[in-house]
Amino acid sequence: MTSLCHGLPPLTGRTEPWMEQLLADPDQCADLLSAHGSALNLLDFGPLGRNIGELTRAGADLGVEVGVFVARKANKALSLISAAVDAGAGLDVASYAELKQCLDRGVEAGRIIVTAAVKDKALLTLAITSRVTVSLDNVDETADVVAIAAKEGIRARVALRLAVTHPSVPPTRFGLTADSWLAFLRDRGELLEVEGVHFHLNGYDRQHRVLALAEACSFIDRLRDAGHPVGYIDMGGGIPMSYLEDEQSWRAFWQALAADADGTLTWRGDRLGLTDPALDRPSPALYPYWQRETRGAWLTALLSTPVDGTTAAQLLTSRGLQLRCEPGRSVLDGCGVTLAEVVFRKTTSDGVPLVGLQMNRTQMRSTSADVLIDPRWLRPSRAGTPSAPGEAFLVGAYCIEEELILRRRLAFPQGVARGDIAVFLNTAGYLMHILESPSHQLPLAQNLVHRDGDWIPDGES
Ligand SMILES: *Cc1c(COP(=O)(O)O)cnc(C)c1O
Repeated sequence: MTSLCHGLPPLTGRTEPWMEQLLADPDQCADLLSAHGSALNLLDFGPLGRNIGELTRAGADLGVEVGVFVARKANKALSLISAAVDAGAGLDVASYAELKQCLDRGVEAGRIIVTAAVKDKALLTLAITSRVTVSLDNVDETADVVAIAAKEGIRARVALRLAVTHPSVPPTRFGLTADSWLAFLRDRGELLEVEGVHFHLNGYDRQHRVLALAEACSFIDRLRDAGHPVGYIDMGGGIPMSYLEDEQSWRAFWQALAADADGTLTWRGDRLGLTDPALDRPSPALYPYWQRETRGAWLTALLSTPVDGTTAAQLLTSRGLQLRCEPGRSVLDGCGVTLAEVVFRKTTSDGVPLVGLQMNRTQMRSTSADVLIDPRWLRPSRAGTPSAPGEAFLVGAYCIEEELILRRRLAFPQGVARGDIAVFLNTAGYLMHILESPSHQLPLAQNLVHRDGDWIPDGES
């Protein structure tokens, strides 16, 4: 069977068995859209446990105890909380609401860390009085923590966010240097229970993380000398995953784009972050949709990397340190898809063919410049008469010229019908939620969770 849709050139997305089962029944997908509206997010947290297990096993094989705290901000579904706990993980929360939801659902305090970039007093008070660890970012916030702890008559559990200063690691707005923290603790540290050192680096570079681990270890040596019994390093997120079946299509796509002098492959010739055509690969600002090493293999390589005359793993084991991490995207790999219904076909005033979807571009966006994988395309039995075979760009509901769902040209070998369904693969990690907006007062997409063969609205478990 020829597929109903592919990108030019194709970027074929990796799927999970539950996704293929869903895609095999276009009429069921149409029924779900009729019942819950378009766009619609479908979640199955089955792969979460497997993904988390890859990380803990990779550590265990090298004698390193790994604790996984799923980055809550990567997906809003309430069901993610119990799925993470059932998979033996904890949660990394970034707001009062995210923390409250976890506590209300009975997540143990020791399984939560607060890493919010800005922490108000309500969030800090709830965390401190619940004995949840707070990752401290700056001196003003730490002064608030000390004041709340004094008022409550307790000590606050904290991890210190380290701003890594190694010249090979890019500068960061997050955390403070080891010297700044040590100076603060000398003067005002008595109400702080310093249990860990935290960092979260932008991007996915493995070597940067090795250097950061080494810097965190020497910081911990100084903290322990000063009487703080630090037990772990939390290396944040940024663990790679792959959205694509194979490397070949990823390379071929960038080569084709580099050679596309007329700008036909993308919306109005968008370069999609390709800064230098001679390089035929994306800029680092773009999420690498294909990566050679992911999760377990990546962590094994990281822990085996030589550093300071030893290995990263031995830096940890020789100090009896646990390694914690806060992956978002990589553990949500395989956990979601987003469906949207075709409402119109047309061309622009200058003849560019368009397909209009009942969704808007904030319902599938990351914070990187986006190149997305090919949607899968479904034609339910109630779809209308298809158009002639052709090509088109997908547009959405916001009244903006640049309202593109995908900035890539797609081919439709069997035309497009009203009532067709575009299925965007692997959207659970950020893509469905991180930027979604109810602009134009359009409702947000509903979230359904796969449970015992049924699709249940999230939160109604
Ligand atoms: C966003 C974030 C994460 C998750 O990052 P991923 O790239 O999804 O793994 C983890 N920790 C902190 C502090 C974050 O801000």
